[in-house]
Amino acid sequence: MTRIFRHPVGGQGGILKPMPTEISTANCPECTRLQDATQDALRQLVRLTSSQLEAFQAGDNGRFARLDKEVEQVMGAKERTIGAFHQHQKEHDNARR
Ligand SMILES: [Zn+2]
Repeated sequence: MTRIFRHPVGGQGGILKPMPTEISTANCPECTRLQDATQDALRQLVRLTSSQLEAFQAGDNGRFARLDKEVEQVMGAKERTIGAFHQHQKEHDNARR
């Protein structure tokens, strides 16, 4: 089972800090983390669906089915990450008012 998200490399630690209201989206570590996580998930989907295509073309049903499950999991994780990102951006908007 592959890890779906890694922590950002070279970040400042303290990932789960409370919402930094005075920080703009441009230098917000949480925005960066969520962007990275979204890109990671999308890259994983590219990789997985490419492998799945190969498995399909090779007629490898077992591998195809395994990859299908992984695609679903990563897709779910990607949707949650994007949901969290939108929610987080709303919090930025509210903080500005
Ligand atoms: Zn942010």
